[in-house]
Amino acid sequence: MELLQRYRIKGIVQGVGFRPFIHKLAKKYNLRGWIFNDSDGVLIEVQSTDEILKQFEQEIWKAAPVMSRIDEIIKLEPEGRLGQYKDFCIKQSVKMEKTRTLVPPDSSVCDDCLRELFDKTNRRYRYPFINCTNCGPRYSIIKDMPYDRPKTTMKMFKMCPECNREYHEIEDRRYHAQPNACPVCGPSIQLVDNNGEIVETDDIIGVVQEKLLEGKIIAVKSIGGFHLAVNAQDPNAIANLRRRKKRDGKAFALMARDIETAEKYAYISEEERTLLLSSEKPIVILKKKEHALPENVAPHNPSYGIMLPSAPLHYLLLEKDEMPVLVMTSGNTSGEPIVYENDLALEQLSNIADYFLLNNRDIYTRVDDSIIRCTNYDLLKSQLSTFIRRARGYAPYPIKVNQDVKKIVALGSEMKATIALSKGNEVYLSQHIGDVKNDKIYESLLECKEHLQSILSIKPKAIACDMHPGFRTNAASKKQSDLPVVYVQHHHAHMAACMAENKLTGPVIGIVFDGTGYGLDESIWGGEFLVGDYHSFERAGNLKTFYLLGGDKAVKEPFRVAIDLLYRTYGEAWENLELEFLKEISDFEKNVYSKMAQNHINAFQTSSMGRLFDGVSALCNVCMKIEYDAEASIELESLLKRKFDMAEEFAYDIIDTDGRFEIDYVPMIKDIVDAITVKKASPEQISRRFHSTVVGSLVKMAVLIREKYNINDVVLSGGVFSNEYLLVNAIILLRKAGFQVYYHSLVPTNDGGLSLGQVMVANANYGE
Ligand code: ZN
Ligand code: ZN
Ligand code: FE
Repeated sequence: MELLQRYRIKGIVQGVGFRPFIHKLAKKYNLRGWIFNDSDGVLIEVQSTDEILKQFEQEIWKAAPVMSRIDEIIKLEPEGRLGQYKDFCIKQSVKMEKTRTLVPPDSSVCDDCLRELFDKTNRRYRYPFINCTNCGPRYSIIKDMPYDRPKTTMKMFKMCPECNREYHEIEDRRYHAQPNACPVCGPSIQLVDNNGEIVETDDIIGVVQEKLLEGKIIAVKSIGGFHLAVNAQDPNAIANLRRRKKRDGKAFALMARDIETAEKYAYISEEERTLLLSSEKPIVILKKKEHALPENVAPHNPSYGIMLPSAPLHYLLLEKDEMPVLVMTSGNTSGEPIVYENDLALEQLSNIADYFLLNNRDIYTRVDDSIIRCTNYDLLKSQLSTFIRRARGYAPYPIKVNQDVKKIVALGSEMKATIALSKGNEVYLSQHIGDVKNDKIYESLLECKEHLQSILSIKPKAIACDMHPGFRTNAASKKQSDLPVVYVQHHHAHMAACMAENKLTGPVIGIVFDGTGYGLDESIWGGEFLVGDYHSFERAGNLKTFYLLGGDKAVKEPFRVAIDLLYRTYGEAWENLELEFLKEISDFEKNVYSKMAQNHINAFQTSSMGRLFDGVSALCNVCMKIEYDAEASIELESLLKRKFDMAEEFAYDIIDTDGRFEIDYVPMIKDIVDAITVKKASPEQISRRFHSTVVGSLVKMAVLIREKYNINDVVLSGGVFSNEYLLVNAIILLRKAGFQVYYHSLVPTNDGGLSLGQVMVANANYGE
């Protein structure tokens, strides 16, 4: 007995080879009917027996194309008649009034294309832009939806007859591959020197490899923007790159030819291997093998950030045995966004790069490399992968939440801004955009907002931003539109982001540790214990405050924080302490700092946990001044070498101030000074004990708050939880204390995830 069945499939099902895939299945099972794309995804109507239709459904789930993502398959009443269809066909897509389908992220080159890339007999042999329905650039080249070649930057390349045939032939693996191209008709690479002169050669890749082996710096146009590449085995080339990029200490990302090569330099767990090999091809933070590569690749750092090639071009560059690994750092100058246009690359990077490996396929949307860290620790008993940066390969995948959300756009934070856009039970999160204090980054934030609204066809009804009056995104919210603006407290947004990705409703205890966030009392918060839900919160506890001497200067110069912590602990007597880091400071200056600390002159009050880490880092003489964000804390954590054992805690108090619990750090500062001056403890020992103290006090606070509010769910959020040691041990010990613990794994715990939380808070508050 045959029947007719209609299916609606939702998710990422357009532009990913879904129709040919269904067509093949229909042939295999001898189904009759049709499929087409519309604004809700794909619609299928087929006739067969119940049994066969069941197998068909199962195979859709099991064997769907790699770049697709099925959210749901809904069975609907058929509209045709039984026996009406004689065969199976792909019908013309209906014109899409409202796109509800998802935009596919960029995907690294697939195995089939890779085989062709190195097949001498193939017409795309060594062609750097080889791609197919299952792989290649997507989000970075899409100007508008629905996803079709004329709406991508591939529009300017007219397909040759052969490519055109592939594109239209349903059996071909390039059927409807919008970026389809070949050496005859598609984009090509070009090599120029830093004067913009074209290097004439018929072996561009060969010349680039030669130059890299000579120690030259090459700007390489990749999928989402430019990379700066040098031979990772050449310490002089790396030193040169550091000098020219004005970047002394921050680790450089690496690109290894393959997983075997990566394994020579770093330890790789199963989970890390899966991530490295995934089609998203993120940078994965891997534990270093000692003396594997020159120290200046990642100085004082126990890890390397390694990715595998994502573009076909990368495979070509890395094919030589003498050079299996490259430094591939973002192609930008300090504080500027990654360059993604040819002319701007020549303009902005000519003081850094010796040569430019360009191509004429335009990038429409800049997308940085994503960075992920997996934690390997037996005691954790669960997988823990953390986004440090969410961008290429992941944006603009939505985060599913546990409720229907109004249409809202959120502008994120200041330093690590992202856009979030909501509709239904999905919140679309943009790629990492960067520090919007920079004009160009600010512009790209606004562009990204418009672009996302357009390609996702969402017209927001409200706009959400941070409460901080000094944030550019705050002013922008008013300027940009007539939409009602919802101002969201920074740490409330962090808490809500973590609740949202874990599908919680609340109330929860939100432990939010970060560097800077504008508090309800107009001081700078950052060591917060909140209690609440999406709608509202109460500040149940915090780190006892101290002062940032010199205001924002103290963020760049952690020794200022250390001095204030000493002042809070010893009063003026701190001036006589025998501490290494104070030796550089004259008596006169000490006196000035004491005055500032005493009278709060040019000093901001803060409860920031990030700054406490900075201050302790300076106390231990680890880092006095920073060059990149969170450097002092990162270096303090680096001393622990990714070993998670806890150590004896320093002393601290928890005090009840006006019904709010405060962690008093004063006993701890005394202990630390004692450990340095009397016990001559090493910075590593102090760091471990300090980290253990923060974990211990956090758990104790959570217990007190649970007793008072009767809440057992804890969410951990904020940039300080990028600290692996802190995150891991907080999870373990909170669980031990009986808490249900939630943390980030889909969006960054730092401000990169903030826009998600802003949407959720705005949703709960807007419309009242
Ligand atoms: Zn492919
Ligand atoms: Zn062609
Ligand atoms: Fe934050």
